[in-house]
Amino acid sequence: MTQMITPGAAQWLFAWESCAGLAPAHAALRLLRTACPDADPARLAALPAGRRDALLIDLREALFGRAFACTTDCPACAQRLELEFGIDALRVPAHDAPLTDLRLEHAGYELRLRLPTALDLARIAHHDGVASARRALLEACVGEARFHGAPRSPLDLPEEVVTRLADVMAAADPQAGSAIALRCPGCGHAWEAGFDIAAYLWRELDDWARRVLLEVHALASHYGWTEPDVLALPPARRRAYLEMVGA
Ligand SMILES: [Zn+2]
Repeated sequence: MTQMITPGAAQWLFAWESCAGLAPAHAALRLLRTACPDADPARLAALPAGRRDALLIDLREALFGRAFACTTDCPACAQRLELEFGIDALRVPAHDAPLTDLRLEHAGYELRLRLPTALDLARIAHHDGVASARRALLEACVGEARFHGAPRSPLDLPEEVVTRLADVMAAADPQAGSAIALRCPGCGHAWEAGFDIAAYLWRELDDWARRVLLEVHALASHYGWTEPDVLALPPARRRAYLEMVGA
């Protein structure tokens, strides 16, 4: 079990600053290192994607609460939908399926697999395009591939086998790639929309950090306080002072 703490505003601002320009999947690893300072960074990097997401969901709850609000477009009629849901809609119940030593036998192919890790996701985030990211994941996660006993490159697998491989991974790590069931009130279309907790949390933290800097600016300018002074104020007291200075 990874022990999570709730660092203060100054530490989160530092983490936010250190993530500037990084892809959300890369930033996610740094945020988890901030939230889990006692965890071995190599162990966090090696977490299967779904275990990473479970921790990011816990971190989101600790930082910003249980309610989510976002928008999406109906894929059938393009109507903009305003979504509100609770954090439990994203959580997949814990399960006992093995996470390692995954195997697939299908149509003469025999594969040994491992699950994509947090580090894999951070690395592929810097690839241009889905095809290149997919190739990188296949190379990383397919330990051995054989066709009727003869070695095959992971990049030389038929689409049907790659689909089965994705199914094996999804069954072993169902928390990876949360999805929300949606129905469009306009046209009745029902679908499952993928939800990227790393991207969502990074956007929220980015908004929060920019808001806090404005608050520091307003209070430091007005009272002559330093940044650490302002950040040390409990949120309710900071809000009260901001109201007093009309910010
Ligand atoms: Zn629709």
